[in-house]
Amino acid sequence: MQKFLMEKGFIFPTAEIYGGMAGFFDYGPLGTEIKRAVKELWWKTWVSGRQDIIGMDGSIITNPKVWESSGHLDIFHDPLVECSNCRGRFRADSLLEKKVKGQLDGLSLEDYAKLIEEYKVKCPVCGGKLGAPKWFGLMFRTEVGSVNGNTAYLRPETAQLIFVNFNRIVKTSRATLPFGIATMGRVFRNEISPRNFVFRCREFEQMELEYFFNPKQDCPSGLLESVADLKVPVLTREIQEAGSKAVKMPINALVKKKHTSSWHAYWLGKSLEFVMSLGLAPAKLRLRQHLEQELSHYSKDTWDIEYRYSFGWKELAGIADRTDYDLQQHAKASGVDLSVATPEGGKLYPHVIEPSFGVDRLVFAVVEGAYQVEKLPDGKQRQVMKLPEAVAPVQVAVFPLVSKDGMPEVGREIYNILRKKLRTFYDDKGSVGRRYRRQDSVGTPFCITVDGQTLKDRTVTVRERDSMKQTRVKIAEVAGWLERRTGG
Ligand SMILES: [Zn+2]
Repeated sequence: MQKFLMEKGFIFPTAEIYGGMAGFFDYGPLGTEIKRAVKELWWKTWVSGRQDIIGMDGSIITNPKVWESSGHLDIFHDPLVECSNCRGRFRADSLLEKKVKGQLDGLSLEDYAKLIEEYKVKCPVCGGKLGAPKWFGLMFRTEVGSVNGNTAYLRPETAQLIFVNFNRIVKTSRATLPFGIATMGRVFRNEISPRNFVFRCREFEQMELEYFFNPKQDCPSGLLESVADLKVPVLTREIQEAGSKAVKMPINALVKKKHTSSWHAYWLGKSLEFVMSLGLAPAKLRLRQHLEQELSHYSKDTWDIEYRYSFGWKELAGIADRTDYDLQQHAKASGVDLSVATPEGGKLYPHVIEPSFGVDRLVFAVVEGAYQVEKLPDGKQRQVMKLPEAVAPVQVAVFPLVSKDGMPEVGREIYNILRKKLRTFYDDKGSVGRRYRRQDSVGTPFCITVDGQTLKDRTVTVRERDSMKQTRVKIAEVAGWLERRTGG
């Protein structure tokens, strides 16, 4: 998949001419379009499409006190071990992952040391003895201004900017509980060992929502109903502790069986609904609740949406119950009251559910899940990406059959009409068969061909990617035809 993405120019290591840089990637024309489309769809679905959620845009570098109060400076770190022979540095939990069953998050340095001893873990490069594990801070540091020692950090998550700007946003938007504040943008984590292409990188984009509510009030049943029947395999804490297999259950069963709160279940459902709208197959999705020791310092309960990538089940999105931890921490440290008035009168610190998506790993899953090599009836094969129209980098391609007889002129005319509404591509090079295959391989759902008949009756063929069916449509009706097919 990595090779395919690089060859097609979707995503590649940054500054390849200098040998790249581990954990940093650049997006080419097609990858950029998919990424933009995923972000736009999220914003449309969750922010502009809802009355109860507003957006904000925070800065990457902020007052370092933010990270002190949030706990990131103290606790946002990974266990590092160094080889006493070759000086290679590795994540202790990654080295242990292959040997030890069960979750390795949340262990102490002593635990890691014990496990390394017990499982006789050696340096994966030279086989040398590993030193004692140490904590390695994941935040990138920088100096601000001309004065040395003015240390600041590149943000490791976007969420904190929502909490520290909470008062101003709530006042200016006159939001009343329950409501959400959403944001997206770049974040930075100095991973010890970035891996699996863009799955774990050092610079990436997040889309995060903080949904605030009165902890004494449940999610209204009307809201919960909208996602109640969504059904995927679920790994609750109990199921994992018993070593059992995932059990398929609908979202409302999570509430009925008291596996989680109603607000948490609602946002698990909405998050699932969103990733499914990107074309991710339900068979490759599951929900997994974090074990007690895995929980982040701010979280009471966290569930991951996991996706079965080619390299195994991995976290695609995390949906955390952060309680009122962040608002309380910032209120205490700043001395500013961050409580809100309730419609019933009185004030309270709202609790918050946080659905958090990594954009790059989502794009990776979307592309990996859509890619297929298909056998054709004539025995040949085709590479095809079955991307939903909403995120296809090219939504429609326009081809003149040959570059003469006035066909390019009509092709250009159609191209100029369609590109106002859709991501449109014009191609007049090579055989039509080859042009179709090129578009199949980058996921273009529709190709329009201008041919001899077009010049007689102003109709074109529209060829559909998945069925390869061809339909004759009048030029005057082609925009409307596509719009109906793509659901507007
Ligand atoms: Zn070594």
